[in-house]
Amino acid sequence: MTRRWNGWGDLPICYHLSDSAFDFLEGKLGRLTPILDASLDEVLACAPPSRLVQHPQISTTPDDRLRHARGQSLPDWVALRSGRIPVFPDGVSYPTNSEDITSLFSYGHRTGARLIPYGGGTSVVGHINPTPGDAPVLTIDVSGLNRLLDLDETSRLATFGAGVSGPEIEAKLNLRGYTLGHFPQSFEYSTLGGWIATRSSGQQSLYYGRIEDLFAGGQVATPRGVLDIPSQPASAAGPDLRHLILGSEGRLGIITHATVRVRPLPEAEGFFGVFFHHWEQAAAAVREIIQTDLPASMLRLSDADETEANLVLAGKDRLVGYACRGLALLGYGPGRCLLIYAVTAARGGVRRAHREIEALCRAHGGLLTGALIGKTWAKSRFRTPYLRNTLWERGVAIDTLETALSWKHTLPAAQAIKDAIREAADESGERALVFAHLSHIYRDGASIYVTYAFRRSQDPDELLERWQKMKTAASQTIVAHGGTISHQHGVGLDHAPYLEAEKGPLGMEALEAARRVFDPEGLLNPGKLLV
Ligand SMILES: Cc1cc2nc3c(=O)[nH]c(=O)nc-3n(C[C@H](O)[C@H](O)[C@H](O)COP(=O)(O)OP(=O)(O)OC[C@H]3O[C@@H](n4cnc5c(N)ncnc54)[C@H](O)[C@@H]3O)c2cc1C
Repeated sequence: MTRRWNGWGDLPICYHLSDSAFDFLEGKLGRLTPILDASLDEVLACAPPSRLVQHPQISTTPDDRLRHARGQSLPDWVALRSGRIPVFPDGVSYPTNSEDITSLFSYGHRTGARLIPYGGGTSVVGHINPTPGDAPVLTIDVSGLNRLLDLDETSRLATFGAGVSGPEIEAKLNLRGYTLGHFPQSFEYSTLGGWIATRSSGQQSLYYGRIEDLFAGGQVATPRGVLDIPSQPASAAGPDLRHLILGSEGRLGIITHATVRVRPLPEAEGFFGVFFHHWEQAAAAVREIIQTDLPASMLRLSDADETEANLVLAGKDRLVGYACRGLALLGYGPGRCLLIYAVTAARGGVRRAHREIEALCRAHGGLLTGALIGKTWAKSRFRTPYLRNTLWERGVAIDTLETALSWKHTLPAAQAIKDAIREAADESGERALVFAHLSHIYRDGASIYVTYAFRRSQDPDELLERWQKMKTAASQTIVAHGGTISHQHGVGLDHAPYLEAEKGPLGMEALEAARRVFDPEGLLNPGKLLV
């Protein structure tokens, strides 16, 4: 398989958009026109000469540099598709052990090059982008650090090289009867080190835990030497250094290997769908599920707009038509919201848990649909991002953003964020299709995951301006409601201006001080997390 250089996923995989889905989008956004993108050759020709001092471990080919130039944020897509990439990395290195990394730190120190740690390049907030400046930029792609180094079956701890990707982790563990259970939607390409460095959250974190629950310890190579974090089940020995590395976004060092908590493969797992009459009713149901400790491994509640969009974009027009007519007859009209939930347990446990969740949903007016919708969702969960390629080529840009807030603020904030995006689109004379789901549910609150689609412009600068207005309006609304600027995507470049609102000036100073301790010369990933 060949990975796309200017979009999501493997080249042969396409997400087909039906005519009715296209009509639906035109109805929401206005007339759509396909816009021609720059070709690979055209973009490669734009790579300026490398400014790096030659080194046997460094590739300076335009192809390597282009493939590490940008991640998956909307500005990244605009840059790659238009060929207007303001800064290329000057070279790429592929270390295969800690010694290689130490030697690259010495190289950075000697030559003044800045070093960007790179996992799978799936960042959606500008984490791996080189920023303008006089210093040459070397991207350090750690995908060669991908071995399973140890599996301690007694303690259920596995140690991997940090560049190992999601599928590689699961293949290696599954062979031995285990799973990590960390399934972000970027699973195909994102890496263990990237998950730790961005505080990632998998779709079934309700059961398996977020990456901070799974990351038990490991090793970080820093410009000042190696930081070893022992794996202990728990510790009261002062502040936990794991939490300094979690979310460090390549600013403090390069995680070379990590020990993670694994579980035996589940005996049984089921995904199920429930419709509710309206959003408030559905949100009350998921809150009660979590607050009464019912054992769901995933709760994912779409609002009415997302429910409608998902049904239309599913591409099964006739089936969906029948289903919608049936739902309407039963009183589940245009305000209906779909909950997908999962149960992961021992064989008998799934049936028991499913029955309890079913009863609670029914008490909240939920309509149970059996396993078909849930199964279909689970089957296509890593295919959905491919839709972004198809939409882009038909003239539609799409982006996502997310936050988390306590229950008291969740629903008002979700509404306010959606309104802010629509109003910002309106200011540009455009319409935005905006929808949301509650993606990760906690006893005290939930994360809100918002998707917004809008028309591309022929002019990449105009498109960026449209996006910037919507993104800024949404980010300001999140901050005003007391939400975190990111529940799972991290800070990178795009969220850095909003971090201080959350951490406070003293908190920012503490983070900056930690950076100075590990990387006094500022070699690593300038401009990310800390401006
Ligand atoms: C389609 C799509 C779906 C997504 N879904 C989810 C989701 O469900 N949940 C979620 O949490 N995120 C999601 N993301 C965001 C992204 O996948 C995560 O942020 C992921 O953790 C990034 O991992 P990566 O290996 O690709 O890291 P990269 O993008 O390569 O790097 C991200 C940051 O981590 C640093 N880094 C990477 N490796 C190391 C290392 N070994 N040592 C030190 N620093 C390192 C980099 O310097 C950079 O700052 C999604 C992204 C896309 C495009």
